[in-house]
Amino acid sequence: MEKELCWCGSGHAYEDCHKIIDDKIAILAAQGKEVPTRDMIKTPEQLEGIRKACALNTAALDEVEKHIKAGITTGELDRIIYEFIISHGGVPGDLGYYGFPKSVTISVNDVVCHGIPGDRPYDVLKPGDIVNVDCTTVLDGYYGDASRMFCIGKINKKDKELVDVTKECLNRGLQAAQAWGYLGDIGAAIAQLAHKHGFSVVEEFGGHGVGVDMHEEPFVAHYGKRKTGMVLVPGMVITIEPMINAGRKGIYEEEDGWTIRTQDGKKSAQWEHTILITENGPEILSY
Ligand SMILES: [Zn+2]
Ligand SMILES: [Zn+2]
Repeated sequence: MEKELCWCGSGHAYEDCHKIIDDKIAILAAQGKEVPTRDMIKTPEQLEGIRKACALNTAALDEVEKHIKAGITTGELDRIIYEFIISHGGVPGDLGYYGFPKSVTISVNDVVCHGIPGDRPYDVLKPGDIVNVDCTTVLDGYYGDASRMFCIGKINKKDKELVDVTKECLNRGLQAAQAWGYLGDIGAAIAQLAHKHGFSVVEEFGGHGVGVDMHEEPFVAHYGKRKTGMVLVPGMVITIEPMINAGRKGIYEEEDGWTIRTQDGKKSAQWEHTILITENGPEILSY
């Protein structure tokens, strides 16, 4: 008798492929745990496409790194990203997303996220600025998402601490992103470190599933309680992207409908990776 093939399209028998994971999920669900739906577990074919999109996304941020310096406008960086992604066969995910007018979001100093690049006088980067460049790339219908901080010239000690601690918050989140652990483990690890340094965690925005769409379930909070929330299962692709404020956690949206700033005017930092949950720990797909 023919063996039943796995739903994931691997061509392997179901019992040698995802049955092991499906059985584990069923047991956890029966215990009342929140578990991912099947569409949150990527197939080998999807993963192949997501890996390529993520690699191009990482290369786009590497390209930004070559050019970003005092005197450049965020608008110029946006054009560099656009040209790079298009010339490599991709499409910037941000462009036209809910009407977003540019190819990337660039958030300077007290801008928490979703800053719109431009060529206005205040869009010129200057020494002392801390800058987040957040890029999503679509390639052959698959998505990769990452962001990095860039420090322009010499920055002050407090800002350096904010940028470095936020990076370490991401690392702590990654360490906590273990198969058969919980989403709450990630948020708890991030918030613990941020609070230890007297910083606060933005709660309104978070990471997310990604890969087949730009924003998928689940929502990945950067605060939370250990052993709560959705169980992390091998094959899930999510972003971790803590937004950490130097002062209080309050934020507001500007009249442009996009730009998010800290209420207290203090600075904010963010780092983001796209990762794949595996039995051997998280695999970084885009950084
Ligand atoms: Zn399978
Ligand atoms: Zn994201």
